Amino acid sequence: MPDTRPPAKSIVLRGIPASPGIGIGKAFVFKEEALSYVFRALARDEVRKEIVRFRQAVSRTRTEILQSRDKVLKVLGKSHAALIDVHLLILEDALFSKDIEKKITQELMNAEAALVAVLDSIGRTFSKLGDEYFRQRKDDIMDVGKLVMRHLLGQKSVTLSNLSERAVIVAHDLSPSETLSMREDLTEGFATDIGGRTSHAAILAQGLEIPAVVGLKDVTAHVATGDLVVVDGNEGLVIINPTMAVLENYRKAREIQIAESRELEKLKDLPAQTQDGHRVVLASNIEAPEEVKTALGHGAEGIGLYRTEFLYLNRHRPPTEEEHFENYRTVARQMLPYPVIIRTMDIGGDKLLPLGVSGFDDEPNPFLGLRGIRLCLRYQDLFKLQLRAILRASVEGKLKIMYPMITSLEELREANRILEEVKRDLSAKGVAFDKGLEVGVMIETPSAAMISDLLAQEADFLSLGTNDLIQYTVAVDRVNENVASLYNPLHLAVLRLIARVIEAAHQAGKWVGMCGEMAGDPTVTKILLGLGLDEFSVAASAIPKIKLLLRGASYERAQKLAQAVLQSKDQESLLKRLSTFKG
Ligand code: PEP
Ligand code: MG
Repeated sequence: MPDTRPPAKSIVLRGIPASPGIGIGKAFVFKEEALSYVFRALARDEVRKEIVRFRQAVSRTRTEILQSRDKVLKVLGKSHAALIDVHLLILEDALFSKDIEKKITQELMNAEAALVAVLDSIGRTFSKLGDEYFRQRKDDIMDVGKLVMRHLLGQKSVTLSNLSERAVIVAHDLSPSETLSMREDLTEGFATDIGGRTSHAAILAQGLEIPAVVGLKDVTAHVATGDLVVVDGNEGLVIINPTMAVLENYRKAREIQIAESRELEKLKDLPAQTQDGHRVVLASNIEAPEEVKTALGHGAEGIGLYRTEFLYLNRHRPPTEEEHFENYRTVARQMLPYPVIIRTMDIGGDKLLPLGVSGFDDEPNPFLGLRGIRLCLRYQDLFKLQLRAILRASVEGKLKIMYPMITSLEELREANRILEEVKRDLSAKGVAFDKGLEVGVMIETPSAAMISDLLAQEADFLSLGTNDLIQYTVAVDRVNENVASLYNPLHLAVLRLIARVIEAAHQAGKWVGMCGEMAGDPTVTKILLGLGLDEFSVAASAIPKIKLLLRGASYERAQKLAQAVLQSKDQESLLKRLSTFKG
């Protein structure tokens, strides 16, 4: 029978391009559906049947947990699967089931009512304890309770790790942990209502090479699961129910892009060197050891930023020293002979991770709060544990350390004092480490940029974290789509700060890199080259494109461009100079 339904209306939404590429597929709208259940008093002769129904729900929950454990193990590794083991333990806890069955049998509650009553009582007890550890255990128990409830109601649970078909994920927001739990092989792309280009979900999407558009404001209101959707991560567009012509154009564009990236891959083993022989280092940013293969595959000559705080994601207990160590050793070995810069954990901001410490995850302005080095200096045991692991792994490859969110010389000195203490301790125990390990400072606050001459005297290198440097300089929250248009890497204040930092590092005889997203933005590559940047550390997928630009450039001309741009009187003349630049 012919389909007589009117064709669905095609809608184009504009958002913020977060990860390049084109994704085409059926939408999967990711949202937690409300569970609606009824409480009912049982007749005595219904009790047996109700117990069976409850046990069946528990058994189905167990199967579901085991399946997702397998997936997490495969994609994210052993340490993340441990979180799922906790859920299994709770489910198998005899008390949990016994209490519920008691309520069904003795108080004649239906299974839903008994489950809610038991969860409520556990929740109340744990809340009274007030401790961070118990708060997290309570969350675990509630999660398991929710799963059991879904099975009682016959409702499938929605998580990104158990997606079974290729889809475009549409969500109001995605946390870094939700992004990391996406299956790259099944995710055509994602589109979210909120978020900015340098939100960590966007950065992870680039690492996973998933096309993404964020900050669409109300994409979830326009899309239903099953709608055909195009995610254009290059232009920041999402097209819902595209016309045949539009769809055809995008299919062609996608093919061209795949062919182009194959061409670009041919540059893999060529140096990042300009036409007039100026050589820079092109390195990659990673968030997990699994990304090393892609980085090397795209020709990375090092890891310019390893965001180690992602080790803390998707789990409820901070990683042990051994877990840190194993992780760093793997990356160090795989990257040899190239160096790996390990950024000590930058927890806080949009990465509020479970640490078991109180007071930092309910701050009103987390980006201005207890974040990065501040948190490490406050909770020194956590910091020391990480430093010990890095030092121990340093004999396995070429590791360097870098501190995030430094705002003063005193913070750098205090961090170095702790590092020396850890070194002394290791030496006393006869544990080997690289005595010449370099220590660098991230320049991602205006204060650090303004004193970069002083910081450069006491650090081995500097690395510009422009994602934050821009946010703090122009006072624009990097994850807030409402002010995304003000988040401008070409703001003269930002360019002047960058120029100052590069100059300061060179004056002190130190090298300087950039590991913020700006380093992978092709529109500014020649300015950064001309300013004298020594290392560009970018998402692995951006390496070939940036290398092509660098290899086609003249260093001498790029220096002239940089000076001209710095002397612009306003944005209009700056942009004009940039767009008319040849060479
Ligand atoms: C930055 O701020 O530029 C940076 C590289 O660190 P992150 O994006 O992890 O804050
Ligand atoms: Mg930063």
